[in-house]
Amino acid sequence: MTESYDRQAPETLALTGDNHVLQINWDDAHVSRHRLDALRAECPCAHCQGHSPEQSLNLTPAQFAGIQLTDMAVVGRYAYNLVFSDGHNTGIYTLKILYELPNSA
Ligand SMILES: [Zn+2]
Repeated sequence: MTESYDRQAPETLALTGDNHVLQINWDDAHVSRHRLDALRAECPCAHCQGHSPEQSLNLTPAQFAGIQLTDMAVVGRYAYNLVFSDGHNTGIYTLKILYELPNSA
């Protein structure tokens, strides 16, 4: 069985839109354009999402207007750890999340 998240690393990642948009070009020609405030609101870490829907912080992009990336690190072969300018650094964004999240920019 082929796992849908077993995808190749992106061909390119770049900050655009005055450093407020993360653009990812995938090897199948799909292009992701994620606003950083939207990515921050989608943070998949346990603190932001909770262990159940009742514990979720229900973050929205409006709470993170103007947020920027301060660092970004590859995690293994499947994810990126994004560090945001609000100091939040526990979000591990899998390639699956980055690929499937609808474009916000
Ligand atoms: Zn988080």
